[in-house]
Amino acid sequence: MTDTGSDPRRAIPRTDTLLAAPEFAARSVELGADTVKSAIRDAQRRARVGDIAPADVASQALAALDRRARPTTLRPVLNATGVVLHTNLGRAPLSPAARAAMTLAGGYCDVEFDLATGARARRGRGTLAALAQHLPPDAGALVVNNGAAALALVVSALAVATGRPEVVLSRGEFVEIGDGFRIPELLESVGAQIREVGTTNRTHLRDYEAAIGARTGIVLKVHPSNFAVRGFTSAVPVADLAPVCRAAGTPLVVDIGSGLLAPDALLPDEPDARTMLAAAADLVTSSGDKLLGGPQAGLVLGDAGVVERVRRHPLARAVRVDKTTLAALEATLRAPTPTHVALHAPAPVLRERADALAEAIVGRAPGLPIEVVPSAGAVGGGGAPGLELPGWAVALPEALAAPLRLPAPSDTDVTDLPELTDVPAVVGRLDSGRLLLDVRALDPADLPTVAAAVAAAATIATTATSGHRPTDGRP
Ligand SMILES: *Cc1c(COP(=O)(O)O)cnc(C)c1O
Repeated sequence: MTDTGSDPRRAIPRTDTLLAAPEFAARSVELGADTVKSAIRDAQRRARVGDIAPADVASQALAALDRRARPTTLRPVLNATGVVLHTNLGRAPLSPAARAAMTLAGGYCDVEFDLATGARARRGRGTLAALAQHLPPDAGALVVNNGAAALALVVSALAVATGRPEVVLSRGEFVEIGDGFRIPELLESVGAQIREVGTTNRTHLRDYEAAIGARTGIVLKVHPSNFAVRGFTSAVPVADLAPVCRAAGTPLVVDIGSGLLAPDALLPDEPDARTMLAAAADLVTSSGDKLLGGPQAGLVLGDAGVVERVRRHPLARAVRVDKTTLAALEATLRAPTPTHVALHAPAPVLRERADALAEAIVGRAPGLPIEVVPSAGAVGGGGAPGLELPGWAVALPEALAAPLRLPAPSDTDVTDLPELTDVPAVVGRLDSGRLLLDVRALDPADLPTVAAAVAAAATIATTATSGHRPTDGRP
């Protein structure tokens, strides 16, 4: 024991003693000696003015370092919104396998290298092979930055670059995806000229036939992924359009948006790549981080010769993906994704999960008004508009919403780096004056964490309304 004498400040541990301790030495390697020293001095200063006990200097300095060690400002969020592909929360969550693959590929890897021969190899060939397993035999595939890049590249290569800049597009498929992003404007931005056919609600085969001509680069079908037109409507199926395009020698491109590779009975209105290629579309484009459940990416799938023409366009290099994306995509294609699991979770399973969450919350925060209620989930990410997925949620007071989003650090020192804390953010959904925590997109393993976060939020909400803040022992 250190002799504290009459002045407790004499018990403050010395800088060099702390620096020599293994936990500080390890952090010096990780974060740099200057950062570690300044954290120690900060904790010593707080002990000197009586903010913390001398015995807590080491642990406070370590806690501060660990908060600082967070590699980025992107904070993890537990998604209790019931929206599986939440655009503002990063769309698809990656599977553990995809995350691990990304980490491994983060170092040097054989992305363009053949380890057997020591020669250069085709970039991302493992990912392309994994994609090919989901496609008709002999189909080609290309991976680019995102769905918008896939479309811009295809239109550049097959229309603008060929001197036939017209893109034939139905007026019923002039889609605004979100955040003001409009597909026709994207096409025009790379030099395409839109040849509008049909009307908002009805487009016929004869409209396409009349429009296809010497200036036509491609015929494009865009899936209206985020809206549905009901009533007196008519659109031309890909299978009917394909022979007309073939006869005219014009590629037929289908932007399916969501990236479903095969039909899904849960989502009968979502087009999938396999069905579209079987219906004789030349190319399909899609996102990688919607229903496919992978990293942000764009896919160009279909006729191998046409895919190769697209790949050779100079813009392909400008929108190519990095090695970590290729790794995550390959791992995504080899196993069920969290997106698929969350979408297909049966209501009774979700009921049990909601009951378990409610029980964990009651154990942590007794007396909190709480109820398990039915809750309609959604696909989100601009997919399957209007489709309600029956599920369950825990209903809590609305006042918990804000502190759950931005929790205080677990050491209750709310003045210390409130933007970087150890408690994960939990985002729920507000409904009729209550906060719903929908369990559909929550990993069952995260339920204790959510319960702890609710208990912490309840403390913050109470102290906020009663006008007190935790004072860290100060008067
Ligand atoms: C989402 C979507 C896009 C854009 O894909 P990003 O990956 O977001 O660039 C394009 N077309 C359709 C039909 C979509 O649904």
